Amino acid sequence: MTPDLRAMTIDEAELFAVAQGWPRFRGEQIWRWVHEKRVRSFDEMTNLGAATRARLHEVATIGCLTVAEVQTSRDGTRKLRLVTRDGQSIESVLIPAGDKTTQCISSQVGCAVDCQFCATAKMGLKRNLDAGEIVDQVYLGQRLLAEVDPDRRISNIVYMGMGEPLHNYDNLVTSLRILTHDKGAGLGQRRITVSTSGLVPKLEKLGNETVRPNLAVSLNAPNDQIRDAIMPINRKWNIAKLLGALKAYPLEQRRRITFEYVLLAGVNDSLADAAQLAKLLRTIKCKVNIIPYNPHPEASYARPTPAAVEAFQNECKRLGLSTYLRMPRGDDIDAACGQLANRVNGSPVVPLRIKRTGLPPPPPVE
Ligand code: SAH
Ligand code: SF4
Repeated sequence: MTPDLRAMTIDEAELFAVAQGWPRFRGEQIWRWVHEKRVRSFDEMTNLGAATRARLHEVATIGCLTVAEVQTSRDGTRKLRLVTRDGQSIESVLIPAGDKTTQCISSQVGCAVDCQFCATAKMGLKRNLDAGEIVDQVYLGQRLLAEVDPDRRISNIVYMGMGEPLHNYDNLVTSLRILTHDKGAGLGQRRITVSTSGLVPKLEKLGNETVRPNLAVSLNAPNDQIRDAIMPINRKWNIAKLLGALKAYPLEQRRRITFEYVLLAGVNDSLADAAQLAKLLRTIKCKVNIIPYNPHPEASYARPTPAAVEAFQNECKRLGLSTYLRMPRGDDIDAACGQLANRVNGSPVVPLRIKRTGLPPPPPVE
């Protein structure tokens, strides 16, 4: 397989250039075409000589996703179904809020974690996305946004789409380095949030990286008994181990960890659960995003009534826990949290069969 320039950090692109016998700066030049100007073919790199471009065709590719489908929700949320070069479908969601737009991106095709309430879990894990496929979601998202409103930019990125980002650690970190580089998209690391189900050893590793996104952790239960039942990963790294790793996590000043708490009727939504949660998190600098369960056909949980949601949140607040209610966005097009499973109008999308040809990537889809 020829190396993919979309999946390289700027340092790797420089090493790649040197390996071709070119000066180092040529690596930066090519990298900027891909990540700053976002071109999708070598022929658009107009300040490179014809010989260099011809050589690039032979020795490298630019990995491109193609936009297969865009669905728009009545609340303005847009779900993009994107297809990889080997015909896998992934989903990415654009969520406008005021003058800001958050993009929710995928890190894997499917997921291996098997949380009982999550539609992505039911797909199983097909494969990891490479770093180029992760960042191209943002580039295509930005392009789509600009078509609708040229002044609108993606302001925040959340790794909360399909997949468990920490199960795809190296590509996650590479994608973060690419997206935050000031010669590329230049996104501030405070504008990026990585959400995890709590892979303790990888959390410890992430804390030692130079790139520091915000951290969100899907806690979803106030005790091990409930968490074991809804998130099997808890049997490997229980709440004590998870909170231990989070207490040791090097948070930058004025930053807090976000906990996600999917509220499931009759499972984790009682006032006693709220009290236990508040006690559990008392000593951690954090806030809790309460997400009323988004229903989908693969699970039989129910969303609590608005009164039960309010009572749960009030109890948390009364006990000093800072909480935010995350109402579903894009749920009419299966774009809300936990609903991403490559379904269109309820039916699964069959992966396209595309043969690997080693040819340059398919042309961009406008
Ligand atoms: N794998 C990562 C990120 C993707 S899941 C993680 O688990 O953190 C993103 C969020 O969606 C998680 O917080 C998860 O708890 C939540 N979620 C999953 N299924 C849901 C559902 N059916 N309704 C509401 N939230 C859900
Ligand atoms: Fe995977 Fe996150 Fe869904 Fe759990 S909630 S199955 S970790 S995507």
